[in-house]
Amino acid sequence: MTQQPTLVPPRLRNDCFAMPQGVAWTPVDEALARLRAALHPVAGVEDIPLASALGRVLAADVLALRANPPHANSAVDGYGFAHAATGAGICQLPLAAGRAAAGQPFYDTLPNGQAIRILTGAILPQGVDTVVLEEDCAISADVVAFDGPIKPRANTRRAGEDLAQGAIALPRGHKLRAPDLALLAATGTTQVQAYRRLRVGVLSTGDEITSHNAAPHQIYDANRPMLLALVTGWGFDAIDLGHTPDSPDLIRHHLDEGAKSTDVILTSGGASAGDEDHVSRLLSAEGALSSWRIAMKPGRPLALALWQGVPVVGLPGNPVAALICALIFARPALFALAGADWAEPARFTLPAAFAKSKKAGRREYLRARINADGHAEVFASEGSGRISGLSWASGLVELPDEAADITPGTAVQFLPYSSFGIG
Ligand code: AMP
Ligand code: MG
Repeated sequence: MTQQPTLVPPRLRNDCFAMPQGVAWTPVDEALARLRAALHPVAGVEDIPLASALGRVLAADVLALRANPPHANSAVDGYGFAHAATGAGICQLPLAAGRAAAGQPFYDTLPNGQAIRILTGAILPQGVDTVVLEEDCAISADVVAFDGPIKPRANTRRAGEDLAQGAIALPRGHKLRAPDLALLAATGTTQVQAYRRLRVGVLSTGDEITSHNAAPHQIYDANRPMLLALVTGWGFDAIDLGHTPDSPDLIRHHLDEGAKSTDVILTSGGASAGDEDHVSRLLSAEGALSSWRIAMKPGRPLALALWQGVPVVGLPGNPVAALICALIFARPALFALAGADWAEPARFTLPAAFAKSKKAGRREYLRARINADGHAEVFASEGSGRISGLSWASGLVELPDEAADITPGTAVQFLPYSSFGIG
């Protein structure tokens, strides 16, 4: 692969988050579809060694430079021969001198009617197309005997049976995980074209928030460590933009600074439409704010804006709502900005261990975990200030937009934290 300069894609359009006039409450799926349509990769592209590519997103398809396996080889330890020399009933074949082992090929051609010792991974010598397992053989010094018939090509692997040379090993948009490194290494890739790691700024807002020595009227900043950790876990560069009180000038200053060093900014707090919601007020005056009223609990508007061309995702201040909005909306948004495939969490159907009735009109996410019977239980309180429930849980139960009457045993959707990349 030739070395290329970093490519910098265009920024988002100023009106990309605009919602049509008159939209009241947007269903979760529609909001996600809009987000998906609005976003495109903003991270640049660079060539990097495979060894440092874990967690990076492929910016181009990677083709297999070499087939896997590159040559036909033996799948077992045993004896190899030409299938044409065998038949039904007991077969006795004279053993040729020498052997074929992985990394130690047998370079001669095996005469028809003979057998040769062959070990797992050895390239099939000329004249060998079939292998019999050693456990199925009786062996003397110079003869191997086994029960026929043996299937043609038994216990062998075809060249390229896993992946042909030139086939797409992994597509653009794929985020590299440990097993992917095995596939790319096996097929001869040493360098990949990847998007640069997305730089994600995290800013907390609120007069009452502090990180040190909280006075009686203050509370500790719970969102920033959580969001920074989520972002790191998703494979991005988490950039701590600190905390700002509810002052437009200070928020502006933090956003200005953040926009210089990040590709996207996550804020928490002050994003609704109240008196003290200074983030939304500032973004609306100066940052092309679009407040999406999403039919979801927990929720509140999701503030989407552009600050000097840098997308800003304004999450609710409440830590429970901040986490759930981050998992449902910020995560796929960041993946899209990073060039990755759309991030859809895996859902599992489990019987409920709880009862609950909900009305139609909004989707609900409950803190949940799997109990000893394999059923989904939910946290005792739905109070959105109950941070302990986030740690109690191992995932979320997703209740549909429609009305639902859940009783113990009703099938519900469980989304484990691991589906959101929380390890
Ligand atoms: P807001 O969205 O600013 O109205 O905040 C909603 C609630 O979340 C308030 O009770 C805030 O005190 C609380 N809150 C906001 N930011 C944080 C934070 N970073 N850590 C913990 N709680 C927060
Ligand atoms: Mg606030």
